[in-house]
Amino acid sequence: MAKTARLSVLTSGGDAQGMNAAVRSAVRAALERRAEVFGIFEGFQGMIEGGDQISPFTWDSVGGVLQQGGTILGTARSPDFLERSGRKEAVRNLLLQGINRLIVIGGDGSLTGAQVLREEWRTLLEELVAEGRLDPSVKEEYGFLAVAGLVGSIDNDMFGTDLSIGTDSALHRITEALDAITSTAASHQRAFVVEVMGHHCGHLALMGALASGADFALIPENPPNLDEWEERMCSILRTGREMGRRDSIVVVAEGAQDRHGNPISSRYVEEVLTKYLGEEARVTVLGHVQRGGSPSASDRVLATLLGAAAAEAVLNAKPGDEAVLIGIENNKIVHSSLTECVEHTLKVGSCIHECRFDEAMEYRGKAYRDSFRILRTLIRANPRPPQPNKRRLRVAVLTGGAPAPGMNAATRAVVRMLEDNGHIPLGVKWGFRGLIDDDIQEMNWMTVNGWAPTGGSELGSSRKTPEGAELYAAAQVLEKHQVDAIVMIGGWAGYHAAHKLYEERHNFPAFDIPIICIPASINNNLPGSELSIGADTALNSIVEVVDKIKQSAVALNRCFIVEVMGRYCGYLALMSAIATGAERVYLHEEGITLKELERDIELLKQGFQQGKRLGLMIRNEAANSFYTTPFIAALFEEEGGALFEVRQSILGHLQQGGNPSPFDRILAARLAWEAVQRIEEVASRAGARRYSDVGAVCLGIQEGDVNATPLYRIPRLMDEVHQRPLEQWWMELRPLARMLAQPGPGFFEQSVLGQADQN
Ligand code: ATP
Ligand code: MG
Repeated sequence: MAKTARLSVLTSGGDAQGMNAAVRSAVRAALERRAEVFGIFEGFQGMIEGGDQISPFTWDSVGGVLQQGGTILGTARSPDFLERSGRKEAVRNLLLQGINRLIVIGGDGSLTGAQVLREEWRTLLEELVAEGRLDPSVKEEYGFLAVAGLVGSIDNDMFGTDLSIGTDSALHRITEALDAITSTAASHQRAFVVEVMGHHCGHLALMGALASGADFALIPENPPNLDEWEERMCSILRTGREMGRRDSIVVVAEGAQDRHGNPISSRYVEEVLTKYLGEEARVTVLGHVQRGGSPSASDRVLATLLGAAAAEAVLNAKPGDEAVLIGIENNKIVHSSLTECVEHTLKVGSCIHECRFDEAMEYRGKAYRDSFRILRTLIRANPRPPQPNKRRLRVAVLTGGAPAPGMNAATRAVVRMLEDNGHIPLGVKWGFRGLIDDDIQEMNWMTVNGWAPTGGSELGSSRKTPEGAELYAAAQVLEKHQVDAIVMIGGWAGYHAAHKLYEERHNFPAFDIPIICIPASINNNLPGSELSIGADTALNSIVEVVDKIKQSAVALNRCFIVEVMGRYCGYLALMSAIATGAERVYLHEEGITLKELERDIELLKQGFQQGKRLGLMIRNEAANSFYTTPFIAALFEEEGGALFEVRQSILGHLQQGGNPSPFDRILAARLAWEAVQRIEEVASRAGARRYSDVGAVCLGIQEGDVNATPLYRIPRLMDEVHQRPLEQWWMELRPLARMLAQPGPGFFEQSVLGQADQN
């Protein structure tokens, strides 16, 4: 019989939030496949030291780690591993335990190390056998090393993945800091220079600046254009002040440089500001704060997906297979050659080093380049003057449906980009209600100043869809203001109203204009987009609260039933279950049956009997209208007897509030940019006025890229009764959530299902 596969996991290089989630999911996915799993402590150094540094891991070794920052395995930079002799010891220690499958979570250096180890494995093994330090049988059984690498590094500088584990959490820390500095800077009318991490990659600086509404960003890949960039930067800041801004914030990446390759330090920027602006500037170097804190919801989910995929990959690997890097591209898990990813990463590094900036930007990909262009527009202190021969369109901007964090960031971006392109933004209050009541005002660059970080909707929102006579009123208002296009930022109610106007365009010519919908709803239940603005923030709010709820239970045997929003869409419930390690999630998409509830009770009882101290179930608010949260709580409480107590927690509106997460702010800016590109397209078609067929669309993110779905397709894409898309991409993550929550490999089938079915 073949020996049980043995694999090991290590974290290496700088620590990054979310590494634990990856370790947990890799360990459990491997156990589920009945492999034996070892955790290696202190990175490659632990591999060289051997002994207790390579320890068997069980299901419970990785319990309760999701919310912890850093890495439970520890990490180290190991100079010994750079030497062949060190790596030889590592090979011996692995083989003493019969391990020849390895998952490495780290940055470019660590992944290079793993790759080198794989290359040398066979030779080192043979040498060790020849020296009599290993049994010759290892040649047959363990002749190859299977390697899967995951990028765990806050810098996001590695090829092969759109996002690395830890980047989103680091952006959270950066954005929090920038928001805080913005408020103090505004009180004192001061200039601030904020330095963020990133030697070869400006991702954190760029996205941080974009998310916080900073005034200027300096990144390694795309230095400021002119030789006298210092003056230009200061003139932007000065104009901003003249326009009424009270603060000036410059974000500098650690590795920022000018066009000639000379480093631009944050101290230098401080000197420049002091000299040209004639006022004191302050430097804040964020440093290790960026690696700190609990991982963000999205890092936990990403790391969980990647960890499980890595276990799968190393367990499936055969002799001769290349080492793989497992990453996420366009919202899909992808496997690439680790060697090629390392090579490409090094290439970008040399492009930057050798001042070949266009090439470096090319390597970074489209989303990165778009973000840079968007930032360049948004940070302009004032809009470009309208061009004399260009049509100026009057564009109504409104927010519809329930408030979603990020609506203001989207509104701000739309307004500024419209004005920058010479158009006239008209702010409509209270969603479509304002269109009926003629509650409309012109907006400009400064109306939306400071809106990027704020929650709710400054314009006000409503669930109103114009009906009957209201349609006539809305048409008149649109005509009165000579509205050429509408940008609606909102949720299902907003989409519904936009679609209504579109349908009525034959009766009311005023509606026969471009109507562009931008998805903004915490429920993430909108057609034409995998993600909507606000869902990430809501997910983070849920995860934060559930972490606290879990902490409150350390002393007692407790089971929590947490109810989350989403209406009939289970996105928030499932994702928060993955991010918090809930053992059960109840979705409307799946329904709830009494039989399942009985099984869940059995599972809980067995768990608590075996020493479990905490149970966590997440229920979508509309999962089942009879088996409500109080009902399930009562049922579990009664059935749990003395074994455990049950508490319910209905999270409510805290999920709709709060400042938008960096992800939501950046998504808002990207979608706003696209909306304005479409308006531009319309403006270029001089003369014609009926554009609804080309311009009535809902924007969204699909497979990682921005795209547009015509409004007329909405009814075909939606389950109108349950107000959710007919197809939901995240549904395929359910088996993973279920697998990770089970208390052990095959446990569910063997012990509980069997019993429940017999009863
Ligand atoms: P980050 O840059 O995100 O902090 P990293 O993984 O790039 O993470 P490094 O310090 O470059 O961090 O690498 C971590 C460890 O990986 C090193 O201490 C060393 O043990 C090993 N390593 C790096 N490069 C190599 C190499 N070329 N050959 C063998 N081992 C290497
Ligand atoms: Mg590195």
